Amino acid sequence: MRNKIIAGNWKMNKDLNESVELINGLKAKLATLPKGVQAIICPPYISLAQAKDLLKGSPIELGAQNMYHEDEGAFTGEISPKMLKSAGCKYVILGHSERRQYFGDTDASINTKVKKALTSGLIPIICVGETLQEREKNITNQVITTQVKGCLKDISAADIEKSIIAYEPVWAIGTGKVATPQQAQDVHKLIRGLLTQLYGSATAEKVVTQYGGSVKPDNAKELLHQPDIDGALVGGACLKADSFAAIVQAAE
Ligand code: PEP
Repeated sequence: MRNKIIAGNWKMNKDLNESVELINGLKAKLATLPKGVQAIICPPYISLAQAKDLLKGSPIELGAQNMYHEDEGAFTGEISPKMLKSAGCKYVILGHSERRQYFGDTDASINTKVKKALTSGLIPIICVGETLQEREKNITNQVITTQVKGCLKDISAADIEKSIIAYEPVWAIGTGKVATPQQAQDVHKLIRGLLTQLYGSATAEKVVTQYGGSVKPDNAKELLHQPDIDGALVGGACLKADSFAAIVQAAE
């Protein structure tokens, strides 16, 4: 039985003071989590160390929104997995569509980061998803297949079992247009099938897959109870303690 994992991607929102306020709100609302449900927050880099301290004693876990694939060196502006670990991160989001769209992430560079995250002891949340144009051209399955295979190239079965795959249709991110539970389930089933092809069904059955794209308290339950959807990657709705907590509760 896979756990349900709800992760909040704060993106470039919340300064230090606002982060304290949101984390304190979340701690109050999520002092205990429903059985079999995990909650992760991914604040901006500058809030991570502070979040680590604030989350002591809380079941809420910490993740980052990106990383570079080296431990240290002359890479101005970048953050390494070693730094993320020292700031209390257990997870890292890799290949978010905004990173692909604005910052040049590709399946190959994401694959490099996934490998580095895993050897560094971080759990990658690997994002894939088609654009609206690709969905309208009926090439969603091809796009997802290419992304999954590219991002997972040379990743072992032992490592994929620890990893999380987030299906985030680009047309549903931040648009209020959520995929129907059936549309989301269909792509999650495709991903589970790809994992079965690559690693066999025993391994594929262990991998947690999240849906992301305009998840809100009122649509979370139905999405989260599809057979192949094991959680959510939440953007907008994770910026308020009430709505993120309600999504976590909906996963029960
Ligand atoms: C996201 O950024 O990963 C996301 C799913 O955003 P939103 O929930 O706002 O659509």
